[in-house]
Formats: sequence, structure tokens, C-alpha cells
Amino acid sequence: MSDNRRYGYLRCSSCKEKWESSHVYVKEGTKKVEFGQECKKCNIVCFPYHVEPIQCSLCGQTGCDCQKERHIDPAKAHRADLCMRCRAGLFCDKRN
Ligand SMILES: [Zn+2]
Ligand SMILES: [Zn+2]
Ligand SMILES: [Zn+2]
Repeated sequence: MSDNRRYGYLRCSSCKEKWESSHVYVKEGTKKVEFGQECKKCNIVCFPYHVEPIQCSLCGQTGCDCQKERHIDPAKAHRADLCMRCRAGLFCDKRN
């Protein structure tokens, strides 16, 4: 798993729709999120308002019960069509 990967909470600046993504990536050695994701209603690119490590700070696992705030399983595929990173050809879910 990439060291740059984070869990992000996003909110559309237009319709205020909220969503979460386990495929948020920051620039190496920084906290700057490199790729936004599109709101599925508005088709505008949004960036996370909150980003945290993919792994649980309590138990070191991912997708554990400690993470009650989270609704996305990091092991599951995501909406590549709404992800600027996937669209840039850096497919988040590519496994090899
Ligand atoms: Zn929207
Ligand atoms: Zn945990
Ligand atoms: Zn992606």
C-alpha cells in the first residue's frame, strides 16, 4: 500500500453532498492532496476537508470497528470515473 494514501472526507462546495474516500493521495512528504474527486451530481472537482491515515491510529488495522466514523472499506474498489487520480491514468485500484 502506498505511503501517500489517506482516508479523506469530502464535501461538494456546490450541493453540500458529503462522501468519503479511502483513495486520497498526498504529495510525497507533504499533507497536500494531489487529486480531487468529482461530485457525482455537480461534476465539479472537490478536495477533502479532512484527511487521516488509512490505518487506524488505535489498532493499526484498516476497516476495523474502532473507525466508526468511516463508511468506506479500504479494500473495496472505488468510483474511478469520479476520481481525478484514476482519470490521470494512475488507477487507484490497480493490483500488480
Ligand atoms: Zn455537488
Ligand atoms: Zn482500530
Ligand atoms: Zn482513483
